Amino acid sequence: MAQPKYRTHVGMVDILPGEVEKWQTIERIIHEEAQKFNFEEIRTPILEQTELIARGIGQLTDIVSKEMFAFERGDDQYVLRPECTAPVVRAFVEHHLEQRGGTQNLYYIGPMFRAEKPQKGRQRQFHQFGAEILGSDDPIADVECMAFMMSVYERVGITNTSLKINSVGDPESRDAYKKALADYFTPHKNELSQVSQNRLEKNPLRILDSKEEEDQTLVAEAPVIGDFLNKESADHYRKVKQYLDELGLAYDEDPHLVRGLDYYTRTAFELVSPDLGAQDALAGGGRYDLLVEEVGGQPTPAVGFAAGIERLILACDELGIKLSKPKSVDLYIVTIGDKARSWALQQLPIFRQEGFSATMDYAGRSIKSQMKDADRENARYTIIVGENELNEGTFTFRDMEASEETQLPVEEILDRLEKKLDPQE
Ligand code: AMP
Repeated sequence: MAQPKYRTHVGMVDILPGEVEKWQTIERIIHEEAQKFNFEEIRTPILEQTELIARGIGQLTDIVSKEMFAFERGDDQYVLRPECTAPVVRAFVEHHLEQRGGTQNLYYIGPMFRAEKPQKGRQRQFHQFGAEILGSDDPIADVECMAFMMSVYERVGITNTSLKINSVGDPESRDAYKKALADYFTPHKNELSQVSQNRLEKNPLRILDSKEEEDQTLVAEAPVIGDFLNKESADHYRKVKQYLDELGLAYDEDPHLVRGLDYYTRTAFELVSPDLGAQDALAGGGRYDLLVEEVGGQPTPAVGFAAGIERLILACDELGIKLSKPKSVDLYIVTIGDKARSWALQQLPIFRQEGFSATMDYAGRSIKSQMKDADRENARYTIIVGENELNEGTFTFRDMEASEETQLPVEEILDRLEKKLDPQE
């Protein structure tokens, strides 16, 4: 085959028929679970102001410092959104959503963009679903977020996961912890990777996120934030664990789990799957009580999570979980001659109105190749129509599975379909 002239960008993939049905299933499950949890959907633009993302996520993060798809147009600076928490918070502030009263329980599904090195489970355009609860600092909100997240994986059938949790404290606890980390790492500075050496000065917390081999031994022995939590943060964390226990949601405490961004406060969590290989994080989240104010709103406590849809589908594939049925159509009308074709075109809406999927040949093919096409389309039934059938008003109705044929008028065909098939909603 000739090489195509145009291709997708590296790290960006087409989701083709055959695969896309899995996405539809996942998306339906997310919408259904969101409804059960009383979350409302929000859709924000793909492009955001670069400054919002830089402030929202933090200048020192990998995402902002080296992975942004950013460009200028006139005086405006745009970025393809790398995540959706900052955009949701922007929308919350911009539209004064707090005025609707109560907490704002929002969820989203959509593409995100990060110029990372592509590998299995890591793309440059990928998709997340996520949720944010804005306006509550109650640990119940943290746990409801986690429960919503977990409900999607449970519905899909991914149960072999580990929910890791930690508390990163509030700014007061974290300042004390950062100091302890700096005191611990500084004497070993030369043993750290170059990246971590830079982080030591700017934000030693982020060393704990390091993926560099040479940092791992030192990181494993580093002080843990649990020893630096003030009473408020410790109480909050204890309550989160208590509610998780009461809900029967299993978790593993990971004292080195940090979301290395300054606005994160208290609860941090991550869902990992042993079935995924190197990129084993399915989802992550946490509390971010300072972000709304950071991007210009009134102080508003909030908590949320983001989950990767590609990795969810990868995990399903690994586990042999079928997310979609093979494609099929209820009815295929096989036509012989022009009159039959225009008759078929007029009949299709009748079947569709009754809720059945129905199609016909669009290419003027022979009966034989139309029958082949009906097979390829996985048609459950076919109607075969030619001049004689039109004159007589009865048509050959063929059950493709049973290989049985009957001569019937259209009304009776409809009747049969209704008895045999559940119309597609
Ligand atoms: P984050 O927003 O970095 O906390 O990521 C949340 C989740 O999104 C991760 O646990 C992954 O499942 C998914 N994710 C993040 N980055 C990528 C990527 N480049 N490709 C595919 N999935 C990703």
